[in-house]
Amino acid sequence: MRAHNFGAGPCTLPLSVLEEVQAEFVDFAGTGMSLIELSHRSPEYEAVHEEALSLAREIAAAPDDFEVLFIQGGATLQFAMVALNLLDSQHEAGYVVSGSWGARAMEDAGPHGRVYAAWDGADAGYSTMPDPDEIRLRPASRYLHVTSNETIGGIRMVHFPDLGVPLVGDMSSDYLARPIAWDLFDVVYGGVQKNLAPAGMAVVYVRRAALSEPRADLGSFLRYAWHAETRSLGHTPPMFPIYLMGKVLAMMKAVGGVEALAKASAEKAGVLYDVIDGSEGFYRNPVALEVRSHMNVVFRLPAPELEARFVKEATAQGMIGLKGHRSVGGCRASLYAALPMSSVEALAAFMVEFASRNRTD
Ligand code: PMP
Repeated sequence: MRAHNFGAGPCTLPLSVLEEVQAEFVDFAGTGMSLIELSHRSPEYEAVHEEALSLAREIAAAPDDFEVLFIQGGATLQFAMVALNLLDSQHEAGYVVSGSWGARAMEDAGPHGRVYAAWDGADAGYSTMPDPDEIRLRPASRYLHVTSNETIGGIRMVHFPDLGVPLVGDMSSDYLARPIAWDLFDVVYGGVQKNLAPAGMAVVYVRRAALSEPRADLGSFLRYAWHAETRSLGHTPPMFPIYLMGKVLAMMKAVGGVEALAKASAEKAGVLYDVIDGSEGFYRNPVALEVRSHMNVVFRLPAPELEARFVKEATAQGMIGLKGHRSVGGCRASLYAALPMSSVEALAAFMVEFASRNRTD
């Protein structure tokens, strides 16, 4: 039996894709080899690679003046690469610090360029997102960095700010599960291990005009332009995540693409928020209503002991990954693209039943 996997990443992937991969794992396309044993220069792999690149562009509806790059190292490497590629000594970069990941993005860019917090939600416990007029941009800003969904805090940026400065977006935890306002962005990036593939790389979309800017002192791997010129084949790419992602993207296309996934995410999250809001205070979500995440639903119970029991009993019923991030505690249900509604309904029923059994007032 498959677990109901509410893990925050790595996380659940579509069963049909896993089965397809299993079926062709030992002998890929009649080669007598597994895909992971093939040369990355073989025609069989190159076809897989090109298909994944083309689907990643198509599903995201990325315009022609954006390059699509597959880069090992996850989103964390991008925290630094963005600054390395876009910042010079004349410019600085503003960061919307909307939670742990926004903070990490700024911290990791810091050694490579001048960065500053253009907005910081720490005083409000990272429970809100800024209105555009609250964001304080300095004049020499090359970009404003935003995090579309804070995976730990369970908070999402609903509208991307249009302040006349290009945005750079970390979209790791709602990647391709929401439309992207391309006009506003110079770079969009995310680790693939939530909605798209096994861990091992980031997909990075870069506006072509931004490729000519990097500092002269960067090795090839650190330059977006090099990944673009080589179609992400300048070195041995993370072949297995790329191959599996191609299958997930094909499936995403078949079910209606980004719009359909955005709708499904909102519906799945809505089921859990309804349980939380209808629980007469047994479950509490600390996030301002309008910016509640559609991907990571965070909630507290009346006491930490109850939270521990909740997680333990849920696990015993096959619902795993519900413990909140170690930095904030509480509970968190992550509802990535491949998580079926039936898993969400199972959790909702368990939450209702657990509350009625453990209510003390
Ligand atoms: N940004 C966000 C929003 C994330 O959720 C994560 C990982 N959970 C990261 C960045 C870091 O990504 P990676 O582990 O791929 O480096």
